[in-house]
Amino acid sequence: ATPTSIMVGIGRGAEMGILFRKGEALQLLKDARVVAVDKTGTLTEGRPALTDLEVAPGFDRNQVLTQVAAVESRSEHPIARAIVEAAAQEGITLPAVTEFESVTGKGVCATVEGISVKVGSDRYMRELGIDVTGFAKTAERLGNEGKTPLYTAVDGQLASIVAVADPIKSSTPAAISALHQLGLKVAMITGDNARTAQAIARQLGIDDVVAEVLPEGKVEVVRRLKATYGRVAFIGDGINDAPALAEADVGLAIGTGTDIAMESADVVLMSGNLQAVPNAIALSKATITNIR
Ligand code: ADP
Ligand code: MG
Repeated sequence: ATPTSIMVGIGRGAEMGILFRKGEALQLLKDARVVAVDKTGTLTEGRPALTDLEVAPGFDRNQVLTQVAAVESRSEHPIARAIVEAAAQEGITLPAVTEFESVTGKGVCATVEGISVKVGSDRYMRELGIDVTGFAKTAERLGNEGKTPLYTAVDGQLASIVAVADPIKSSTPAAISALHQLGLKVAMITGDNARTAQAIARQLGIDDVVAEVLPEGKVEVVRRLKATYGRVAFIGDGINDAPALAEADVGLAIGTGTDIAMESADVVLMSGNLQAVPNAIALSKATITNIR
Protein backbone atom coordinates (compact mmCIF):
# COMPACT_ATOMS: atom_id res chain seq x y z
CA ALA A 1 0.00 0.00 0.00
CA THR A 2 1.34 3.42 -0.90
CA PRO A 3 1.42 6.08 1.82
CA THR A 4 -0.77 8.31 -0.36
CA SER A 5 -3.54 5.76 -0.80
CA ILE A 6 -3.49 5.02 2.92
CA MET A 7 -3.79 8.75 3.63
CA VAL A 8 -6.73 9.03 1.25
CA GLY A 9 -8.38 6.03 2.92
CA ILE A 10 -7.88 7.52 6.37
CA GLY A 11 -9.41 10.79 5.12
CA ARG A 12 -12.43 8.93 3.75
CA GLY A 13 -12.77 7.15 7.08
CA ALA A 14 -12.78 10.45 8.96
CA GLU A 15 -15.62 11.71 6.74
CA MET A 16 -17.56 8.58 7.71
CA GLY A 17 -16.87 8.98 11.44
CA ILE A 18 -14.19 6.27 11.46
CA LEU A 19 -10.94 7.52 12.99
CA PHE A 20 -7.87 5.42 12.25
CA ARG A 21 -5.37 5.96 15.03
CA LYS A 22 -2.98 3.65 13.20
CA GLY A 23 -2.67 3.46 9.40
CA GLU A 24 -1.82 -0.22 9.73
CA ALA A 25 -5.37 -0.93 10.93
CA LEU A 26 -6.73 0.18 7.54
CA GLN A 27 -4.54 -2.44 5.86
CA LEU A 28 -5.29 -5.24 8.36
CA LEU A 29 -9.09 -4.85 8.53
CA LYS A 30 -9.76 -6.25 5.05
CA ASP A 31 -8.40 -9.64 6.17
CA ALA A 32 -10.50 -9.93 9.33
CA ARG A 33 -12.22 -13.33 9.52
CA VAL A 34 -14.27 -12.73 12.63
CA VAL A 35 -15.69 -9.66 14.29
CA ALA A 36 -15.92 -10.17 18.05
CA VAL A 37 -18.29 -7.79 19.79
CA ASP A 38 -18.87 -6.84 23.40
CA LYS A 39 -22.60 -7.00 24.17
CA THR A 40 -23.45 -4.34 26.74
CA GLY A 41 -23.12 -0.83 25.32
CA THR A 42 -21.89 -2.10 21.96
CA LEU A 43 -24.70 -4.29 20.57
CA THR A 44 -27.13 -2.89 23.13
CA GLU A 45 -27.82 0.65 24.33
CA GLY A 46 -25.97 0.02 27.59
CA ARG A 47 -28.97 1.54 29.43
CA PRO A 48 -30.78 -1.33 31.09
CA ALA A 49 -34.10 -0.87 32.84
CA LEU A 50 -35.62 -2.92 35.63
CA THR A 51 -38.40 -5.11 34.21
CA ASP A 52 -39.23 -7.74 36.84
CA LEU A 53 -39.04 -8.17 40.59
CA GLU A 54 -40.33 -11.30 42.29
CA VAL A 55 -39.86 -11.96 46.00
CA ALA A 56 -39.50 -15.26 47.82
CA PRO A 57 -42.27 -16.27 50.26
CA GLY A 58 -42.11 -14.21 53.45
CA PHE A 59 -40.39 -11.20 51.87
CA ASP A 60 -41.98 -7.82 51.23
CA ARG A 61 -41.52 -6.48 47.70
CA ASN A 62 -41.06 -2.81 48.65
CA GLN A 63 -38.68 -3.61 51.46
CA VAL A 64 -36.54 -5.79 49.20
CA LEU A 65 -36.52 -3.14 46.45
CA THR A 66 -35.47 -0.56 49.04
CA GLN A 67 -32.62 -2.74 50.28
CA VAL A 68 -31.42 -3.64 46.79
CA ALA A 69 -31.56 -0.04 45.56
CA ALA A 70 -29.72 1.16 48.66
CA VAL A 71 -26.82 -1.21 47.92
CA GLU A 72 -26.86 -0.41 44.20
CA SER A 73 -26.79 3.34 44.89
CA ARG A 74 -23.10 2.81 45.68
CA SER A 75 -22.31 0.94 42.44
CA GLU A 76 -21.36 2.50 39.12
CA HIS A 77 -22.60 -0.43 37.01
CA PRO A 78 -25.41 0.30 34.48
CA ILE A 79 -27.44 -2.45 36.23
CA ALA A 80 -27.17 -0.43 39.43
CA ARG A 81 -28.49 2.70 37.77
CA ALA A 82 -31.50 0.76 36.45
CA ILE A 83 -32.42 -0.45 39.92
CA VAL A 84 -31.88 2.91 41.62
CA GLU A 85 -34.04 4.62 38.97
CA ALA A 86 -36.84 2.09 39.49
CA ALA A 87 -36.82 2.73 43.24
CA ALA A 88 -36.85 6.51 42.67
CA GLN A 89 -39.85 6.17 40.35
CA GLU A 90 -41.71 4.41 43.14
CA GLY A 91 -40.86 7.29 45.48
CA ILE A 92 -38.63 5.15 47.68
CA THR A 93 -36.14 6.96 49.94
CA LEU A 94 -32.90 5.06 50.27
CA PRO A 95 -31.53 4.23 53.71
CA ALA A 96 -27.82 4.61 54.52
CA VAL A 97 -25.41 1.86 53.53
CA THR A 98 -22.19 0.68 55.19
CA GLU A 99 -19.49 -1.85 54.29
CA PHE A 100 -20.24 -1.60 50.57
CA GLU A 101 -18.23 -3.96 48.38
CA SER A 102 -18.25 -4.58 44.66
CA VAL A 103 -17.32 -8.04 43.41
CA THR A 104 -16.27 -7.38 39.82
CA GLY A 105 -18.30 -9.23 37.19
CA LYS A 106 -20.48 -10.87 39.85
CA GLY A 107 -22.36 -8.43 42.05
CA VAL A 108 -22.38 -6.11 45.05
CA CYS A 109 -22.97 -6.37 48.78
CA ALA A 110 -23.38 -4.06 51.76
CA THR A 111 -25.02 -3.66 55.14
CA VAL A 112 -28.33 -1.79 55.07
CA GLU A 113 -29.64 -0.78 58.52
CA GLY A 114 -27.77 -3.64 60.12
CA ILE A 115 -28.90 -6.22 57.56
CA SER A 116 -26.55 -7.93 55.10
CA VAL A 117 -27.78 -7.47 51.50
CA LYS A 118 -26.10 -9.11 48.49
CA VAL A 119 -27.14 -8.66 44.86
CA GLY A 120 -25.72 -10.37 41.80
CA SER A 121 -25.51 -13.22 39.32
CA ASP A 122 -26.33 -16.88 39.94
CA ARG A 123 -22.59 -17.53 39.99
CA TYR A 124 -22.18 -15.00 42.81
CA MET A 125 -25.00 -16.66 44.78
CA ARG A 126 -23.48 -20.11 44.20
CA GLU A 127 -20.16 -18.84 45.55
CA LEU A 128 -21.98 -17.50 48.62
CA GLY A 129 -23.62 -20.90 49.12
CA ILE A 130 -27.11 -19.56 48.42
CA ASP A 131 -29.46 -21.93 46.61
CA VAL A 132 -31.35 -20.16 43.80
CA THR A 133 -33.21 -23.19 42.43
CA GLY A 134 -36.47 -21.81 43.87
CA PHE A 135 -36.37 -19.23 41.07
CA ALA A 136 -35.13 -21.61 38.35
CA LYS A 137 -38.32 -21.45 36.24
CA THR A 138 -38.51 -17.66 36.46
CA ALA A 139 -34.80 -17.30 35.65
CA GLU A 140 -35.18 -19.53 32.61
CA ARG A 141 -38.09 -17.48 31.30
CA LEU A 142 -36.34 -14.16 31.92
CA GLY A 143 -33.16 -15.38 30.22
CA ASN A 144 -35.07 -16.62 27.19
CA GLU A 145 -36.62 -13.13 26.93
CA GLY A 146 -33.10 -11.68 26.71
CA LYS A 147 -33.36 -10.19 30.21
CA THR A 148 -30.59 -10.46 32.81
CA PRO A 149 -31.72 -12.20 36.01
CA LEU A 150 -30.12 -11.14 39.31
CA TYR A 151 -30.69 -12.50 42.76
CA THR A 152 -30.86 -10.91 46.18
CA ALA A 153 -29.80 -12.48 49.45
CA VAL A 154 -30.98 -10.79 52.64
CA ASP A 155 -29.25 -12.01 55.79
CA GLY A 156 -28.08 -15.05 53.85
CA GLN A 157 -31.61 -15.95 52.65
CA LEU A 158 -32.68 -15.88 49.01
CA ALA A 159 -35.10 -12.93 48.95
CA SER A 160 -35.78 -12.04 45.33
CA ILE A 161 -35.08 -12.35 41.65
CA VAL A 162 -34.76 -9.10 39.74
CA ALA A 163 -34.43 -8.68 35.98
CA VAL A 164 -33.04 -5.89 33.88
CA ALA A 165 -33.33 -5.56 30.10
CA ASP A 166 -30.99 -3.61 27.87
CA PRO A 167 -32.52 -2.78 24.48
CA ILE A 168 -30.63 -3.72 21.30
CA LYS A 169 -29.57 -0.59 19.38
CA SER A 170 -31.84 -0.06 16.38
CA SER A 171 -28.78 0.00 14.09
CA THR A 172 -27.39 -3.36 15.26
CA PRO A 173 -29.39 -5.89 13.14
CA ALA A 174 -28.48 -4.26 9.81
CA ALA A 175 -24.82 -3.96 10.85
CA ILE A 176 -24.67 -7.69 11.66
CA SER A 177 -26.24 -8.52 8.28
CA ALA A 178 -23.70 -6.31 6.51
CA LEU A 179 -20.84 -8.12 8.27
CA HIS A 180 -22.28 -11.47 7.18
CA GLN A 181 -22.59 -10.16 3.62
CA LEU A 182 -18.88 -9.31 3.72
CA GLY A 183 -18.26 -12.97 4.57
CA LEU A 184 -17.35 -12.48 8.25
CA LYS A 185 -18.33 -14.47 11.30
CA VAL A 186 -19.71 -12.49 14.23
CA ALA A 187 -18.96 -13.53 17.82
CA MET A 188 -20.35 -12.03 21.04
CA ILE A 189 -18.28 -11.79 24.22
CA THR A 190 -20.12 -10.88 27.41
CA GLY A 191 -20.09 -11.06 31.18
CA ASP A 192 -23.83 -11.53 31.09
CA ASN A 193 -25.51 -14.83 31.86
CA ALA A 194 -25.41 -17.54 29.18
CA ARG A 195 -29.14 -17.91 28.54
CA THR A 196 -29.61 -14.14 28.18
CA ALA A 197 -26.64 -13.88 25.83
CA GLN A 198 -27.92 -16.82 23.73
CA ALA A 199 -31.36 -15.21 23.43
CA ILE A 200 -29.87 -11.95 22.17
CA ALA A 201 -27.46 -13.76 19.84
CA ARG A 202 -30.38 -15.72 18.39
CA GLN A 203 -32.34 -12.51 17.73
CA LEU A 204 -29.35 -11.03 15.91
CA GLY A 205 -28.13 -14.13 14.04
CA ILE A 206 -24.78 -14.03 15.83
CA ASP A 207 -22.62 -17.07 15.04
CA ASP A 208 -20.67 -17.65 18.24
CA VAL A 209 -21.39 -16.69 21.88
CA VAL A 210 -19.00 -16.65 24.82
CA ALA A 211 -20.92 -15.67 27.98
CA GLU A 212 -20.26 -15.31 31.71
CA VAL A 213 -16.77 -14.05 30.93
CA LEU A 214 -15.14 -12.27 33.86
CA PRO A 215 -13.76 -8.81 33.01
CA GLU A 216 -10.17 -10.06 32.85
CA GLY A 217 -11.22 -13.02 30.67
CA LYS A 218 -12.09 -11.18 27.45
CA VAL A 219 -8.42 -11.13 26.33
CA GLU A 220 -8.25 -14.91 26.61
CA VAL A 221 -11.39 -15.24 24.46
CA VAL A 222 -9.89 -12.99 21.76
CA ARG A 223 -6.75 -15.19 21.74
CA ARG A 224 -8.90 -18.29 21.33
CA LEU A 225 -10.89 -16.71 18.49
CA LYS A 226 -7.62 -15.86 16.72
CA ALA A 227 -6.55 -19.49 16.96
CA THR A 228 -9.96 -20.70 15.72
CA TYR A 229 -10.76 -18.26 12.93
CA GLY A 230 -7.68 -16.24 11.98
CA ARG A 231 -7.59 -12.46 12.02
CA VAL A 232 -9.89 -10.94 14.68
CA ALA A 233 -11.41 -7.47 14.90
CA PHE A 234 -12.83 -6.66 18.35
CA ILE A 235 -15.37 -3.92 19.07
CA GLY A 236 -15.96 -2.65 22.59
CA ASP A 237 -16.68 0.39 24.71
CA GLY A 238 -15.88 -0.39 28.33
CA ILE A 239 -12.91 -0.30 30.69
CA ASN A 240 -13.13 -4.13 30.68
CA ASP A 241 -12.72 -4.13 26.92
CA ALA A 242 -9.37 -2.30 26.85
CA PRO A 243 -7.10 -5.39 27.06
CA ALA A 244 -9.18 -7.22 24.41
CA LEU A 245 -9.04 -4.16 22.13
CA ALA A 246 -5.24 -4.24 22.41
CA GLU A 247 -5.02 -8.03 21.90
CA ALA A 248 -7.20 -8.12 18.75
CA ASP A 249 -5.55 -7.74 15.33
CA VAL A 250 -7.69 -4.61 14.99
CA GLY A 251 -9.40 -3.05 18.02
CA LEU A 252 -12.31 -0.70 17.33
CA ALA A 253 -13.66 1.40 20.20
CA ILE A 254 -17.01 3.14 20.33
CA GLY A 255 -16.36 6.86 20.74
CA THR A 256 -19.28 7.24 23.12
CA GLY A 257 -17.63 4.75 25.49
CA THR A 258 -14.81 5.06 27.99
CA ASP A 259 -11.53 6.92 27.37
CA ILE A 260 -9.51 3.82 28.27
CA ALA A 261 -11.22 1.81 25.51
CA MET A 262 -10.43 4.53 22.96
CA GLU A 263 -6.79 4.75 24.06
CA SER A 264 -6.39 0.98 23.64
CA ALA A 265 -8.00 0.87 20.19
CA ASP A 266 -6.56 1.12 16.67
CA VAL A 267 -9.77 2.67 15.37
CA VAL A 268 -12.32 4.93 17.08
CA LEU A 269 -15.90 4.97 15.81
CA MET A 270 -17.40 8.42 16.34
CA SER A 271 -20.97 7.23 16.84
CA GLY A 272 -22.47 4.23 18.57
CA ASN A 273 -23.89 3.03 15.24
CA LEU A 274 -22.29 -0.35 14.47
CA GLN A 275 -22.79 0.14 10.73
CA ALA A 276 -19.41 1.88 10.98
CA VAL A 277 -17.77 -1.55 11.40
CA PRO A 278 -18.80 -3.05 8.02
CA ASN A 279 -18.15 0.41 6.53
CA ALA A 280 -14.60 0.38 7.90
CA ILE A 281 -13.98 -3.12 6.52
CA ALA A 282 -15.40 -2.17 3.13
CA LEU A 283 -13.19 0.95 3.14
CA SER A 284 -10.15 -1.21 3.90
CA LYS A 285 -11.00 -3.53 1.00
CA ALA A 286 -11.56 -0.62 -1.39
CA THR A 287 -8.38 1.17 -0.35
CA ILE A 288 -6.13 -1.84 -0.65
CA THR A 289 -7.73 -3.03 -3.93
CA ASN A 290 -7.11 0.37 -5.54
CA ILE A 291 -3.40 -0.04 -4.90
CA ARG A 292 -3.05 -3.33 -6.71
P1 ADP B 1 -21.28 -7.00 31.21
O1 ADP B 1 -20.86 -5.55 31.18
O2 ADP B 1 -20.84 -7.76 29.98
O3 ADP B 1 -22.72 -7.20 31.54
P2 ADP B 1 -20.04 -7.32 33.87
O4 ADP B 1 -18.77 -8.05 34.10
O5 ADP B 1 -20.07 -5.87 34.10
O6 ADP B 1 -20.46 -7.72 32.37
O7 ADP B 1 -21.18 -7.99 34.76
C1 ADP B 1 -21.40 -9.37 34.72
C2 ADP B 1 -22.55 -9.76 35.61
O8 ADP B 1 -22.21 -9.47 36.99
C3 ADP B 1 -23.83 -9.02 35.36
O9 ADP B 1 -24.58 -9.59 34.31
C4 ADP B 1 -24.51 -9.18 36.73
O10 ADP B 1 -25.08 -10.46 36.81
C5 ADP B 1 -23.36 -9.10 37.70
N1 ADP B 1 -23.18 -7.73 38.22
C6 ADP B 1 -22.17 -6.88 37.95
N2 ADP B 1 -22.33 -5.71 38.60
C7 ADP B 1 -23.50 -5.80 39.28
C8 ADP B 1 -24.25 -4.91 40.14
N3 ADP B 1 -23.84 -3.68 40.42
N4 ADP B 1 -25.41 -5.38 40.66
C9 ADP B 1 -25.83 -6.62 40.39
N5 ADP B 1 -25.18 -7.49 39.59
C10 ADP B 1 -24.03 -7.10 39.05
MG1 MG C 1 -19.74 -2.81 27.08
